[in-house]
Amino acid sequence: APERQRWLDRLSQGLRKTGSNIAEVFTGGQIDDNLYEELETALLLADTGVKATQHLLDEVKRKVASTGATRPVQVKNILSESLAQLLKPLEKTLVIGAQQPTVIMVAGVNGAGKTTSIGKLTKHLADEGASVLLAAADTFRAAAREQLAVWADRNTVEIVSQEGGDPAAVSFDAVSAGRARGKDVVIVDTAGRLPTQLHLMEELRKIKRVVQKAQADAPHEVLLVIDGNTGQNALAQVKAFDSALGLTGLVVTKLDGTAKGGVLAAIAQEQPIPVYFIGVGEKLEDLETFNAREFAQALLG
Ligand code: GDP
Repeated sequence: APERQRWLDRLSQGLRKTGSNIAEVFTGGQIDDNLYEELETALLLADTGVKATQHLLDEVKRKVASTGATRPVQVKNILSESLAQLLKPLEKTLVIGAQQPTVIMVAGVNGAGKTTSIGKLTKHLADEGASVLLAAADTFRAAAREQLAVWADRNTVEIVSQEGGDPAAVSFDAVSAGRARGKDVVIVDTAGRLPTQLHLMEELRKIKRVVQKAQADAPHEVLLVIDGNTGQNALAQVKAFDSALGLTGLVVTKLDGTAKGGVLAAIAQEQPIPVYFIGVGEKLEDLETFNAREFAQALLG
């Protein structure tokens, strides 16, 4: 719990650094147009996006009127409540065990924190007693394979990897091996960049199809890892990968000290895909479950 409080504090601080400190909006003496204008600017600066910002402003004004609030601090509480309400549908727990193995396909553009998140997720699942097998389906980048092997090593789990192999074939082999060896979970790491975006989506779709051949109801989860620091760009990625692959969940990384945490509100408003985990640091244990109320409070500092 102290660790959790620490990164929640860092999240609030990150917003303050860039001048998008939402908390400051509520330090004045009265509720007026100026307050709402400042609030709008602060929300936009935190990458909340135009639609979610408008939604939140409408909600807040409506509730201020209906409750007869007169002090800015009351507006802050109302905003916190509205934000938590907006974010609530994103809360979801990753459940494994219904299938053996549960197959989790993981996508994300290079640099988003995909490999690190897979390492963290592997530790999280192994700590819960699950046996995990990793599939290095990013056969395009040697470094990606090597890094995944390091995470497999640290977590002492098996990995299926093949230099220069076909990503779909590696995925098929890994899922088949997972079934044969009675693993609880197979995590498939996919490429984050190919020569063209079109190729990437085509390759990911092929991996998904082939995994389905290895195990009829798989993949059970298709996760997208996004960098929380990239704000509206992350939202664009969610939309693109969801339409190509059909996402079941998100992992939002680098929320330790970002100035753009509002992007989660934009995702909730425009493409509400559950956030299974958030990344709050570079270490293996820096993975947290997403809680709407806590996050809203941290964002408002
Ligand atoms: P990939 O290309 O998507 O596989 O990205 P990596 O997993 O290699 O991560 C890219 C960089 O982001 C590395 O330096 C990671 O240590 C860092 N990183 C990943 N997740 C987090 C996070 O939650 N917080 C912070 N601060 N850094 C992270």
